Amino acid sequence: MDSLAAFATDKLAALESQSLRRRLRPTRRTDGVCVERGGRRLVSFSCNDYLGLSHHPAVKAAAAAAIESEGLGAGASRLVTGDNPLLATLERRLAALKGAEAACVFGSGYLANLGIIPTFMGAGDIVLVDELAHACIWGGARLSGAQVISFRHNDVDDLTGKLAAARGSARRALVATDGVFSMDGDIAPLDDISRTAQAWDAWLLVDDAHGLGVVGGGVGVGALFPSARIDLSMGTLSKALGAYGAYVCAAQPVIDLIKSRTRTVVYTTALPPAVAAGALAALDIIITEPKRVAAPRLRARRLTRSLGLPTAESAIVPIVLGDAETALAAAADLERQGLLAVAIRPPTVPANTARLRIACSALHTESQIDDLAAALQPWMQA
Ligand code: PMP
Repeated sequence: MDSLAAFATDKLAALESQSLRRRLRPTRRTDGVCVERGGRRLVSFSCNDYLGLSHHPAVKAAAAAAIESEGLGAGASRLVTGDNPLLATLERRLAALKGAEAACVFGSGYLANLGIIPTFMGAGDIVLVDELAHACIWGGARLSGAQVISFRHNDVDDLTGKLAAARGSARRALVATDGVFSMDGDIAPLDDISRTAQAWDAWLLVDDAHGLGVVGGGVGVGALFPSARIDLSMGTLSKALGAYGAYVCAAQPVIDLIKSRTRTVVYTTALPPAVAAGALAALDIIITEPKRVAAPRLRARRLTRSLGLPTAESAIVPIVLGDAETALAAAADLERQGLLAVAIRPPTVPANTARLRIACSALHTESQIDDLAAALQPWMQA
């Protein structure tokens, strides 16, 4: 075996021995809420398609029509020949929804955070990141070359102390956090965080991937904190919008600079126009169907009520089980009962907090939530 393959084999064996090896499982999402896996149909609680829009007839029709007229791929980066007018239309709609001057779309949420942070931050700067923020915020912060400082989850006192200690010698400062935390479903105290950031002359980036279409009447987490100043309001098109890609909303010059300098805009092929068309149709639904928007959180609350857990703040309910083996065993037990809830293990979550991350959808029926609660009950005492 050559040296690289031997290295990979050893690494895989080490991961396997800790129950941390990950494997892809072929899965077809046959509608907004069910999947086919291993020849079986399972009710999924592991999709971020919170409103079921990935399979909505209007969304699919809009995307199909755009493929017919615009083709499949964008063909080049936006600055070359890939700037299909659908992208600008989508940006205008997102900026209007968020009450921002302008927006820029990206190929994915990961690319967005990886690109945005190094556009504004560099050596001599500090980036303060909530310890549970998404991996791509950490990735962007590290890539920027700034000093990266972790603050305790949702702990504004810790953030303040760390800003106080490091701000003086730093040129510029950025605070970066999820709005709705992807693995815990809780919400950052953005009014306090924003006040602190302003007091220390720091910019604020909020990742609203799991807020758009779900909280704040669908507008996202910013709507829950109208007094907060969010300088960079980032989010994804891949969750409640049922599409793919991401956006950031900000002041016009900020967006102009991103479009001119951000490497994950400049050096990458544009979002396919059909994806933008689908996302636009999904935005229409979010704006016109408040009952659909409210539903995932109502389902999540039904689940937390049945299980005696703290009231869900979003569509996400973490069932923290501890070690990776227990989380895998619980997921296998649920799968036998026709329920898909994938085990989330370190390093996606901190050590000893392996969990089932339940994502509720507007399309889940109350009885599906009750079946899930019954299947989880034995694991709650584990
Ligand atoms: N931010 C958060 C909070 C996420 O949960 C995710 C992925 N689920 C991303 C960013 C990355 O988005 P994408 O999947 O579009 O790359």
